[in-house]
Formats: sequence, C-alpha cells, structure tokens
Amino acid sequence: MSLGELYREIIMDHAQNPRNRGKLADPSFQIGLNNPTCGDEIILYGRVDKEGRVAEATFEGNGCTISMAAASMMTEAVRGKPLTEAKNLLEAYKAMLTGGSSEPDLLGDLESMKGVTQFPMRVKCATLAFNALEKGMEGIEKKGGSHGKA
Ligand code: ZN
Repeated sequence: MSLGELYREIIMDHAQNPRNRGKLADPSFQIGLNNPTCGDEIILYGRVDKEGRVAEATFEGNGCTISMAAASMMTEAVRGKPLTEAKNLLEAYKAMLTGGSSEPDLLGDLESMKGVTQFPMRVKCATLAFNALEKGMEGIEKKGGSHGKA
C-alpha cells in the first residue's frame, strides 16, 4: 500500500465513521461556520476545564468527505490537550496545508490531509473545523479564564 492509499483510507474511515459527532451539553464554546464554495457546514463544541485543557470537543454538521474527516480527526487530536498545545497543533496543520513542512509526531492522522495541498479549493474544506477551533479558543482567551475578571 502506498502512502497516498494509506492516507486516503484514513480520510475515508474518519468521514464514514466520524468520531465525536454530536452536540455537547454545557460547552465552553460553540462556533458555527460554513464554507460556501463547497457547501460544508459545521458547528464545533468545546469544553475547556479549569486547568485550561480541552476536556471535550465534538461537532455537528454536513459536508464533503474532506471537511467531515478533518473535523473528526481534529476533535480526536485536541481532546485532553492544553490550549497551548491545541494551538501548536492548529498552527502545524495550517502550515502543512499552505505548503510548509509537516510535523508527523504532532499531527498524527491529520498528516493524511497533506495531499489536499494539491487541490487549493479543498484547503478550505480541510481547514473549516480548525477555523472554528481557532475562534473558540480566541473567545476563551478573551474571557480570561475562570478568575481575574474586573
Ligand atoms: Zn468541502
């Protein structure tokens, strides 16, 4: 099996059996985004615990194989990670999709999205869930955590 075939299998598996699909009760953030060029829609739910870790991440939505697989892989990848590490993952993923070098140790299954760089229109599909994550994390930072409010 070539690396390309292996990557395609990973993507198909996540698209057909999405992990963490569903609504999250009592989320710390809830971000809805769509990608009009393809018709992908996603609502990302995340719960961040007191230690600043992503305790849960789930998603709802409909879209193409790439967008759904990316959402499934992303929610798997960030769960249990401190926000700072989730941010590193996000940056590494975006760097990979804009033609930069990839970091397999950090990206795990997400490395399989590397081939999307050959299809610029699909990069938006592959980054939709990550853009939602980015917005969600920005919102958490603005809130300033559970204490220190004026
Ligand atoms: Zn799409």
